[in-house]
Amino acid sequence: MIYFLDVILPIPLQKAFTYHVTEAEAKFLKVGMRVAVPFGKSKVYTALAYKIHNNPPLVYDAKTIYQILDDAPVVTEIQLKHWEWIASYYMCSLGEVMRAAMPNAFILESETIISKNERADVNDAELKDDEFLIYEALQYQSSLKIQDVVSILDKKRVLPVIQGLVEQGVLHLQEELYEKYKPKLVRYVRLCEQHKSEEQLQQLLETLSRAPKQRQVILALFTLEASEQKPIKVSELTKRSDSSSAVIKTLIEKGILEEYYIQTDRVQFESNGNEDSKQLSETQSEAFNAIEASSKNKSVTLLHGVTSSGKTEIYVKLIAQQIQLGKQVLYLLPEIALTTQLVQRLQNYFGEKVAVFHSRYSGNERVEVWNNVLGNLEKAQLVIGARSSLLLPFSNLGLVIVDEEHEQSYKQFDPAPRYHARDAAIVLANMHKAKTLLGSATPSLESYFNARQGKYGLVELTKRYNNVLMPDIELVDLADKYKRKRMKGHFSDRLIEEMAEALDEGFQIILFQNRRGFSPIVECTTCGHSPQCPNCDVSLTYHQYRDQLRCHYCGYNSVMLKSCQACGNATLDTKGFGTEQIEEEVKELFPDKQVSRMDLDTTRGKYGFDKIINKFEQREIDILVGTQMLTKGLDFRHVKLVGIMNADNMLNFPDFRAHERSYQLMTQVSGRAGRTDVRGKVLIQTYNPHHNILQQVSTNAYKEMFGEQMNDRYNFKYPPIYRLIKITFKHKDYNRVNLAADWYAKSLRQVFKTNVLGPEFPPISRIRNLYNKNILVKIPQQQSLAKTKEAIKKIENSFNAIKDFRSVRVVLNVDNY
Ligand code: ADP
Ligand code: ZN
Repeated sequence: MIYFLDVILPIPLQKAFTYHVTEAEAKFLKVGMRVAVPFGKSKVYTALAYKIHNNPPLVYDAKTIYQILDDAPVVTEIQLKHWEWIASYYMCSLGEVMRAAMPNAFILESETIISKNERADVNDAELKDDEFLIYEALQYQSSLKIQDVVSILDKKRVLPVIQGLVEQGVLHLQEELYEKYKPKLVRYVRLCEQHKSEEQLQQLLETLSRAPKQRQVILALFTLEASEQKPIKVSELTKRSDSSSAVIKTLIEKGILEEYYIQTDRVQFESNGNEDSKQLSETQSEAFNAIEASSKNKSVTLLHGVTSSGKTEIYVKLIAQQIQLGKQVLYLLPEIALTTQLVQRLQNYFGEKVAVFHSRYSGNERVEVWNNVLGNLEKAQLVIGARSSLLLPFSNLGLVIVDEEHEQSYKQFDPAPRYHARDAAIVLANMHKAKTLLGSATPSLESYFNARQGKYGLVELTKRYNNVLMPDIELVDLADKYKRKRMKGHFSDRLIEEMAEALDEGFQIILFQNRRGFSPIVECTTCGHSPQCPNCDVSLTYHQYRDQLRCHYCGYNSVMLKSCQACGNATLDTKGFGTEQIEEEVKELFPDKQVSRMDLDTTRGKYGFDKIINKFEQREIDILVGTQMLTKGLDFRHVKLVGIMNADNMLNFPDFRAHERSYQLMTQVSGRAGRTDVRGKVLIQTYNPHHNILQQVSTNAYKEMFGEQMNDRYNFKYPPIYRLIKITFKHKDYNRVNLAADWYAKSLRQVFKTNVLGPEFPPISRIRNLYNKNILVKIPQQQSLAKTKEAIKKIENSFNAIKDFRSVRVVLNVDNY
């Protein structure tokens, strides 16, 4: 009997590749183990065993595998089933899913570059012969490809040796990021032990009666300790007692206070998981019970709860239940870097059982989490992570929570697999017969639609925890302010007034400026009108090279207008303004306040966000200027005012979801204001104070927004009524992209008729020297998605058979929104 093994290679191949294995290997191998295989002329790859059988491949001679790398599978069967679903739904290869799922350290290949870990303390006498040869070679060369190692060791079976050295920390894989950030130490104070009893304290206060400053510090420390129930920072105490660090220093020298330091990113008081979870309020309990009831007959439930309604505390109870049952829980977040706060909260409850899966983690950290999840170990019972954590090897999943389910960052755009983590998570949960809970204060239209249709259960929380009031939202009419000369830069007099007041009262401020302000949208500076596409309900974008306005969905175009169609003034403007400019202006307006900026530029690196968030929490920053990053579930206690600098560039963004997104963004960012007893204030500056979305934001009218937007989606044939597949063509030659896209579109039209839009150039049509052109296929509800994809695949095959088109890259993006 001859044995063959089909493997998944971590590259975009349409089919599994077949190798020859011996009988002994065939007996030993299990699906999900890794094997080292030759591929192409001289490459070696780590591949995944997929199927063992006796049928030789028809069109090529099977090569022999080099060796088996594992004793037991590192990928589970359910996982493979899930990968298959992702590959088929999102029209990509299994290899691409494998590449996205597995830590790099797991899939060494000939192109992988290794180098010496300069920080490692290596005793070369302890290295095995093979290991030493590699180590020695790296004394003379800064890096090696795995292929080089093959020739150095003069054998093909090199991956385990390298793997071993990587695990020992002797070698690095090239693509790993290294963090230079040293965690910051924060100074705390407490009362020395001998003054802690009530009697001793009384005595102390008496002795200090002639040192009123010092007495005041002690009293302030007491109030703080009582109200905050946590360690007190020196900075906090200075502020609260209205004293100086000199006074505190004296108290320390007298032996009355003692100081100590805690690493800020490890601030985990009682974080060994023995903090009792909070008692749910009556409203929360009702919601909790409703979720339980809904889970009895629905696999997915949507929890729609306003900002600060205490959704997290409800998740905690649900998680605790699953942990008690010995089940695994996956807690998905849109952006893991922003979650220090949440991770800390969950660690307080669940301690060591929490594993965080971070795309910015180094290879080894990721391998560790992978293995802990695979082994169903207690220390990874609750996995918190961004979208790729749903690709971990769960074996016993009981619950998936998708927090902030409306967030766009759940969708992966590049590279393949272009999956949506919320949707892929629901499928994963179903495969495990587990439940999914989607949570948001501003659900995506598609999830709310599914809930309305009865496909998902729906539970609502309409009040903030502890009956804290929703913030008071005021719309500021920019057109009017400009006309009456009440603007300083981008700040209206109202905003400046409110800022001054909040700062006076000692509160913090968040200013929100949409990063997308830079997109080439045309806007009238007199009336705020933005030219619209007559067919698509989106704003037109400005294309400078042709001086045209175009719709990037349907291709409608017109010459750039000389004057505004709405008000007639010749004041059409294409420029946006960004966070940097706002930051500068704030510094001028409030020169003695601490201003910081939080956007993609200021938050690089593993701890980039943490640093800013920590500083803001510790009130070292008074005013924080930022982009949508600020919207994501942050819980700051001292923010009273939120300013939205310009609502219009969000509303006018050329996308069918622009209105939905604007509602979500503004509601979320508003939700950062006044999370305690002081009522928060939100100012939204806009040229269109009567815009329906702004009215809905200011009255918290989600359902109204939903109804109105759904009407538009229905009329203009967009999701969730229709589905979308976007097909992008890329080539460095302009003409070839045009020809290829036209050919493809024509073939598509023969099948799908008018439901094919384009081809159309996107606003930025040339990226990294490649021209891009898009086609959009709209799929009506009654049309089979599977059949649609089959038809597209067929067209794709004929397309690939045309010699001229072979070099054109075609990217398929299912649910591209
Ligand atoms: P959401 O996730 O809905 O925005 P959170 O769960 O962050 O809301 O809750 C908002 C605030 O209210 C948090 O500071 C949280 O600690 C507090 N909170 C919520 N529920 C409770 C409860 N049952 N007991 C005490 N505090 C609570
Ligand atoms: Zn259009």
